[in-house]
Amino acid sequence: MGRLHGKNCLITGASSGIGQAIAIRFAREGANVAINYRGGAEQAEVTRQQARAARNGGGGKELVVQADVSNEDHVKRMFKETLDAFGSLDVLVNNAGIQKPCPSHELELPDFDRVLSVNVRGPFLCAREAIRHFLSRGGGGVILNNSSVHEKIPKPKYLSYSISKGGMENLTKSLALEYAGQGIRVNAVGPGAVVTPINRAWIDNPKARAEVESHIPMNRAAEADEIAAVFAFLASDEASYITGQTLFACGGLTLYPEFRVAWSSGE
Ligand code: NAD
Repeated sequence: MGRLHGKNCLITGASSGIGQAIAIRFAREGANVAINYRGGAEQAEVTRQQARAARNGGGGKELVVQADVSNEDHVKRMFKETLDAFGSLDVLVNNAGIQKPCPSHELELPDFDRVLSVNVRGPFLCAREAIRHFLSRGGGGVILNNSSVHEKIPKPKYLSYSISKGGMENLTKSLALEYAGQGIRVNAVGPGAVVTPINRAWIDNPKARAEVESHIPMNRAAEADEIAAVFAFLASDEASYITGQTLFACGGLTLYPEFRVAWSSGE
């Protein structure tokens, strides 16, 4: 039996990239998966079909649910549709996220606000609905946030993204502390560079990709599956005593790679 057998899970932004890999991985581990998407129902349907196939004959349900996570009414409707279909919720994955590169002194307010509204307000709105449900049902629950190495590492020209992931670290810790006594675990995963559509600027350009990968101690970007595996662990009962943590899956990016050579001590 899979580690997530019978668990009802909602994954935001699950029609592509890491969210898609999480939905498929969770289904493979026996979960019922609600696949949220904002636009592009066809792509969400692809996730649903791949999640179904990953069950390899095992039981389980998939639901495709449209919502913009930054919109309160959408989030409420998404939770209602998920709870109507599954009866209850055990795991929320706040995965949806966007970024918008721009020199900080040229960053326009609507772009700044949009990134924060998807990457911080969205996870707050979803976490709030999940916690309300967990408290009314009793028995706890799990919230997982897709953060980034940039919750720790500054990211010039990605100011709103960097701020949003710093905020996500605090969202994770504050909610974890507030609800630990009610059996609600809140954790984050901090990926480094992952081969997904958000990185379309370099993934299919060998020169640009080599440049990115040259900065990573493990010399390569991650596949989305490798990140989904970390989410599956944190969602499972194997992580039953872990809360308020960010687990970095970053190929060593948080290890100060510039210090691989002893430039600072004169040797
Ligand atoms: P992606 O662009 O494939 O996935 C982002 C998903 O979020 C998309 O499916 C998109 O449609 C969805 N989305 C965007 N706005 C939304 C909204 N308002 N409501 C609902 N869904 C919305 O890229 P990805 O790399 O899979 O990104 C997923 C998460 O992983 C993001 O939070 C990102 O910050 C984080 N992350 C990615 C990397 C990386 O290198 N790929 C590294 C660290 C963290």
